[in-house]
Amino acid sequence: MQSIRGMHDILPDEIEYWQHIYLTAIKILGLAGYREIRTPILEQTSLFSRSIGEGTDIVNKEMYTFTDRNNRSLTLRPENTASIARAIIEHKLLFNQQIQKLWYLGPMFRYERPQKGRQRQFHQLGIECCGSYSALADAEIIYLAKQFLDILNYHDYKIEINSLGSIKERKEYQIVLKNYLQTYIKDLDTDSQIKLELNPIKILDSKNNQVQAILSDAPKLISYLNINTLKHLDNVQEYLHKLDIQYSINYNLVRGLDYYTNTVFEIKTQELNTQYTICGGGRYNQLIETLGGSPTACTGWAIGIERLLLLIKNKIAIKSTQLVFYIATQGHEAIKYALTFLKYIQEQQLKFEIDFSNKSFHKQIKKANQQNALICLLIGEDEVINNCVTLKWLQENNQITIKNTEFIVTLQQIKNLTTQYKI
Ligand code: ATP
Ligand code: MG
Repeated sequence: MQSIRGMHDILPDEIEYWQHIYLTAIKILGLAGYREIRTPILEQTSLFSRSIGEGTDIVNKEMYTFTDRNNRSLTLRPENTASIARAIIEHKLLFNQQIQKLWYLGPMFRYERPQKGRQRQFHQLGIECCGSYSALADAEIIYLAKQFLDILNYHDYKIEINSLGSIKERKEYQIVLKNYLQTYIKDLDTDSQIKLELNPIKILDSKNNQVQAILSDAPKLISYLNINTLKHLDNVQEYLHKLDIQYSINYNLVRGLDYYTNTVFEIKTQELNTQYTICGGGRYNQLIETLGGSPTACTGWAIGIERLLLLIKNKIAIKSTQLVFYIATQGHEAIKYALTFLKYIQEQQLKFEIDFSNKSFHKQIKKANQQNALICLLIGEDEVINNCVTLKWLQENNQITIKNTEFIVTLQQIKNLTTQYKI
């Protein structure tokens, strides 16, 4: 049996990096007042088709949708923002005009062509700041994305921002853009021809050079944005300056989901090809209303963890915990006697491993050496009879036998030693 195409196991050696990312998120986002939220992986299909948008790639070709035994159409979440908006409405989290600052990390599912940095099950770390129209919230989330990457020692990226205006402003612009592109329809690639019908604005970030050449003379969205929208973008920029954040404006930046309004941004790596947008986000002032809640302004982003790890894995130094005790026993009575020490070892939070083999001490000591243990604990018939334990310090090749009561006291000293020398 093999895992499904585009869905990968994350093995123990790899998981250490994931734990590092998770712990960094808890710390950095926690300090900024963001709290973790976990929503179910399965949702009603309509949640995504209504929020992400009928004309988007995600809804049209990428969703894992099926009917369950009760004939309901369900979908494995392709992203988490819609689910969080649903949870906010369902649990009245914004009751009393509160602001909710939330973060999540979990698997998302999209039926895409698997390749480097693109899986069918992938993970996103994301934040959502809900309940404020302020440009300050946009600046803060961009600041946090940058801070998160900086703390992980990753600096080789660029930040691009744009404004998509309100859904109304965008609708007006789409009509003008569509009319313009209609005259060049034969010169557009098939993908753009399809988008021209479904969602013309998505043509703006086409990777096709000929399409980009046609677009260079096209009407610009910025000319269709009203004064408040432009002011909002200005404010975001002013705050970013004050936060010492380098960015550029990319008027062609559109995002794959329909629910964005006003600010959108992406963080792209400079190292690999253009596929490598590691973080995407923006403001979505109308989503909660669209899903039946009261009008709530929100802004947020998501980082693709697999893509991030491709870039930063070699920059993360994972320090594994030193194995302190390799517990070697000989015979049934010795095993039972050895087990009585486990609780004391664990009290001191010392890492241990029990040898299950019951082979000769010689062979068990060899194993202890292979595992780089600090001490091999030897417990045989003599130790049981005399209420003792034998400690063999492997590096020094030094062996002492002490009373069990003394051993328990010694554990504290060993603990101090491991902390002092950081072993
Ligand atoms: P792309 O243009 O690369 O398809 P997207 O715009 O669809 O990305 P978003 O929906 O904005 O991506 O998701 C935010 C981030 O999640 C992306 O920047 C990327 O890092 C990551 N991501 C998205 N889809 C995948 C995938 N199939 N495999 C791995 N990571 C992904
Ligand atoms: Mg995509």
